[in-house]
Amino acid sequence: MVIDCGRLVLDERIEREKRVLIEDGEIYAIATHIDAPADATVIDAREYLVLPGFIDIHVHGAMGADAMDATPEALHTMARFFAAHGVTGFVPTTMTAPRDQVAAAVENVRRALTDALVAQGPVAAHILGVHIEGPYINPRQRGAQQAEFMRPADPGEYCPWFESGAVKLITVAPEVDGVMRLIEDARQLGIAVALGHTDATYAQAQAAFAAGANQATHTFNAMRGLHHREPGTLGAVLANDAVYAQLICDNVHVHPAAMAVLYKCKGADRLAVITDAMEATGLGDGDFTLGAQRVAVCQGVARLTDGALAGSTLTMDAAFRNIIAATGCTLAEASRMCSHTPACAIGVGDRKGKIAPGYDADLVILDQDLRVVRTIVGGQ
Ligand SMILES: [Zn+2]
Repeated sequence: MVIDCGRLVLDERIEREKRVLIEDGEIYAIATHIDAPADATVIDAREYLVLPGFIDIHVHGAMGADAMDATPEALHTMARFFAAHGVTGFVPTTMTAPRDQVAAAVENVRRALTDALVAQGPVAAHILGVHIEGPYINPRQRGAQQAEFMRPADPGEYCPWFESGAVKLITVAPEVDGVMRLIEDARQLGIAVALGHTDATYAQAQAAFAAGANQATHTFNAMRGLHHREPGTLGAVLANDAVYAQLICDNVHVHPAAMAVLYKCKGADRLAVITDAMEATGLGDGDFTLGAQRVAVCQGVARLTDGALAGSTLTMDAAFRNIIAATGCTLAEASRMCSHTPACAIGVGDRKGKIAPGYDADLVILDQDLRVVRTIVGGQ
């Protein structure tokens, strides 16, 4: 496949009038002049912007499907919907739930990773692994997670999940019993750890980062905020340059001015745009469920019956536009925050999230209004 690009996002810069040559699902070459092989498909994107496909590392569901459904169909539905919104890779995210339900969701993703239909489907985003959100989190910062299922971290429970090979990321609260040991265990296996749904003090959060946690889940939301005498979890996230900060860019969970503050603190190499989208995404307003809880979506905002925000109905293409509007960042920086930075946060930045030789051929083509024209996953 050859793509003729009007504008092409390459790392820090935007190049004009480049050709990208794709072979065997990988980016093979980028140059002004490349002779297309005789059997190549040529895609004319000379009117458009070509950038790395979006990567969503924190997303629960869409179109009535949820990672907790633990069915291949749910993952198919999500993967197709996300591809239509420019996503080429995503990490289905579990909810705090009884052990057997989380285990079923993890096993479902593990099978999907080895199932060619899901993993290599031509019209679907690729699944990059599973993100376990909870259950080792703090009821004081429950957000839309169910407090009754929150519990101490038990190696007898989480070790089989970790050893399945499917887990890319886990969100935990470091002040919960057993979590500091979990962080060590995760790090041994190359699983990324995010702090979230946490009331950790600054000192507790710093200790967790020193032990190997590398990021914050939906920064600002469901975490102890910054006080100038007790900087809290948020203070530790902002002060620690190495830490990645996930951000829900729907203009609802976080005010655009706070999004701009986070961008100033973290920069494009550490701010990872996420959707935290739930099953109502793509279905408009109405009544839905989140785990066993009822959720009403009104004007795109999902809330539990107690008024708490219950995940978003955000898509990555909208998040891409929102982060530019909120921060005034460049297209190249917004692209990094939606692709390479989240890829790095889960340890796949060496093959995902960039348009460069040797990288997976995952790209999105946007029009002048930054709307998705076409998504290319693994060269398909
Ligand atoms: Zn959450």
